[in-house]
Amino acid sequence: MIDLRLKVDPLPIVEPLVLRLCERDRSEHSEYDAHLIGRETGCREYEHLGFSVRIHASDELPLDGDVLMILPGQPIAHRLIRATSMHNTLLITEQCDQLCVMCSQPPKKHHLDFFDQFAIAAKLAPSGAYIGISGGEPLLHKARLFEFLASTAVARPDLRFHVLTNAQHFEAEDMKHLDEIGPERVLWGIPLYASGSELHDEIVGKPGAFHRLERNLAFLMRAGAAVELRTVVMQQNWGILPDLANFIANRLPFVSVWALMQAERIGFGRMNWRTTFKDTSTEFSALKSAINMAVAKGVEVALYNFPLCSVPPDYRQFAPSTISDWKRKFLDVCRECSSRSACGGFFEWYSHDEGFEGIRPL
Ligand code: SF4
Repeated sequence: MIDLRLKVDPLPIVEPLVLRLCERDRSEHSEYDAHLIGRETGCREYEHLGFSVRIHASDELPLDGDVLMILPGQPIAHRLIRATSMHNTLLITEQCDQLCVMCSQPPKKHHLDFFDQFAIAAKLAPSGAYIGISGGEPLLHKARLFEFLASTAVARPDLRFHVLTNAQHFEAEDMKHLDEIGPERVLWGIPLYASGSELHDEIVGKPGAFHRLERNLAFLMRAGAAVELRTVVMQQNWGILPDLANFIANRLPFVSVWALMQAERIGFGRMNWRTTFKDTSTEFSALKSAINMAVAKGVEVALYNFPLCSVPPDYRQFAPSTISDWKRKFLDVCRECSSRSACGGFFEWYSHDEGFEGIRPL
């Protein structure tokens, strides 16, 4: 697994410090740059505003252009932006107002506000970067989030964002902020698990969530927002996937893509794995019907987090590699597979003992 944290020698700081590591000459410079001044095995020394920052990392790890955040009193640097990765995500908050049965990141009560540091990090990101925004529920802090997105849009119009949100907290008056940010700059990733309130509300653990989501999707549609609907495929909604396809095609045809997703075995997802995980390598019928129906009605469909061999050949075209590089792994059996480069593999925390039965090299 790629490490998103690096060990650093403690620094006498009282505020979070954001740095961009520079190991070669750059065409553009910033007051946040820290320049490499020395190396020894397993440790690199950078100079920033006259003081030394020592980072412990393997010699092979590419760090040039990475943006780090170091917190007071902590011997750890958080890699906010990895310059060589397409999978950079800023965790806005761990608070959430839903309790989804398969949540991979169960909510916590407390919130630490790092929007100022995230704004600096985004401005230091490589050209054309696509940055994920996740939680918890980022829109619990929507005033700060909109401010962050709007100011970044002005400073770095080349950046795009993918924001994961349960969409419970939009109000009609928020749409002016979306317009200000630029609808083309943000793809809103929004979960929808069923075509009716009873099952959706049960899965997300929040009465009234479905109706609120329906209302807010209408706001987003009128605002011209780009929406990626996300449905985790589970035992709970397996039987209704064709109904959901119909619902989306008829009621939400404006969505950019409908992503059908395999679950992550971590957090509540791990706790409830036996009652939620659906082995789509041994049974694909409901997914097949749902995909056929959605595609026939003009809805763009994608399968996220599905190992390629768990999908029937005719449907592999819908299954791009989507698991982020830092949490992706392959199994021993994958060594013999000719499709490994196209396959997204498995989450680092996937357990094959409780996983797909039909994994076979292609
Ligand atoms: S054998 Fe492994 S690499 Fe090949 S398709 Fe299956 S999961 Fe992917």
